[in-house]
Amino acid sequence: MSAVLAEARASLNGEPRYWEPALETQSRADWDALKLVRLRRHLRHAVDGSPYYRAAFAAAGVGPDDLQSLADLRRFPTLDKHTLRERQLAVPPLGDITAVPERDVVYLCASSGSTGVPTASPFTAEDFEDWINYEARQFWSSGLRPSDRYGHALNLSLFVGGPCVLGAQRLGALSVHAGTLPSERLLQIAQQFRLTALWTTPSYAWYLGETALKQGLDPRRDLAVRRIFVAGEPGGSIPQTRERIESLWGAKVYDYYGLSDIFGSCAGMCEQQHGLHWAEDHIHWEVLDAAGEPVAEGERGELVLTTLTKRARPMIRFRTGDIVSFTTEPCRCGRTSARLLGVHGRLDDMLIIKGVNLFPSDVEAVVRRFGEFNGEYRLVVEREHHLDRLTVEVETAAGFIGDTLALADGFARALKGASGVSAEVRLLAPETLPRATHKARRVDDRREHLWA
Ligand SMILES: [Zn+2]
Repeated sequence: MSAVLAEARASLNGEPRYWEPALETQSRADWDALKLVRLRRHLRHAVDGSPYYRAAFAAAGVGPDDLQSLADLRRFPTLDKHTLRERQLAVPPLGDITAVPERDVVYLCASSGSTGVPTASPFTAEDFEDWINYEARQFWSSGLRPSDRYGHALNLSLFVGGPCVLGAQRLGALSVHAGTLPSERLLQIAQQFRLTALWTTPSYAWYLGETALKQGLDPRRDLAVRRIFVAGEPGGSIPQTRERIESLWGAKVYDYYGLSDIFGSCAGMCEQQHGLHWAEDHIHWEVLDAAGEPVAEGERGELVLTTLTKRARPMIRFRTGDIVSFTTEPCRCGRTSARLLGVHGRLDDMLIIKGVNLFPSDVEAVVRRFGEFNGEYRLVVEREHHLDRLTVEVETAAGFIGDTLALADGFARALKGASGVSAEVRLLAPETLPRATHKARRVDDRREHLWA
């Protein structure tokens, strides 16, 4: 065992450093062995319980016995959001991808349905228990402790992010189920109960901090929040975005990643804040290129997920539409689970400007480099004479006085350098763009689509 690992495994101030020490620090070979055993069992469960998987696997000529290594999973068909929704509507209420009798389902959440009918994500009691236990493990890795007072400011209705609060409670932290309270009330509660930790979306963390300042409350001085968990937007994986929220609040920001069709959190940042530790004992990950082949470690590709334990509705090779990158390098915290390095955007959000792929998060990273901006921006895409035209609208920081032409020009050059895309830049006064209380809408695509 290396000296670093031995040190990391030791307890810290009498408190254990890990929630599940043996599991969290096992070798990569042990992770793979664990995943293979669980995957074989899970594929068998899927075939036995779900008419959809029985038919889909038979059509592809594969079965659970064909899995000799994790790489053999690539022979199995993928599943997309469209099929998920279609199968649910075809066999109401839970669909034939569900692999347990309905009486075994104790909880369901539903996706926001931004592209159509909401899809339900069912859990058995055991699934729910697994989730809350590893949610506690993720929180522990981010430094949350029983002495903390934790405020959960995510939507609690039907949203998979809601029950994540039970992970903090499981860990022993005093947990306030705040939900989507009006900002003034949330700030009042944070102040009155001396909350030490909060979970929101990144854009709301920023908005809430600004709202506090407007009320004459300095989050650094007048509030006790020292850890902020964020999820739900790509912004959380951009270091510059996190750093700005950190300096506004005087708090550490930890990015988390989850999706309603799988679990509330699939991954979360440890105290090293470099990448999000993946819950590999429950979810297997693949990162694939457009042809469906795995990309090299660290390269960007689409995230494809396979549950290893979720009994109610096994998800085998689910195409998330998220563009991500991963590393399996050991982390300085001593944990050996693979880390999600970033969510670079969504396949759906990807803009193609004059043939160049551009994600809003690429623009955001450049916006955050400029201290003259307050971090709020919007992309407007139009088409003129069959040519795409991108305008980036950016708000200047409060109190900015300076050469606006030079600033716009400098930003346009930096954007071109970082992304290869030329844009017109429109500087706006602070508070011009609509503020989001949930997910920020960063793109206004006014092009007429040929297929619309
Ligand atoms: Zn770590």
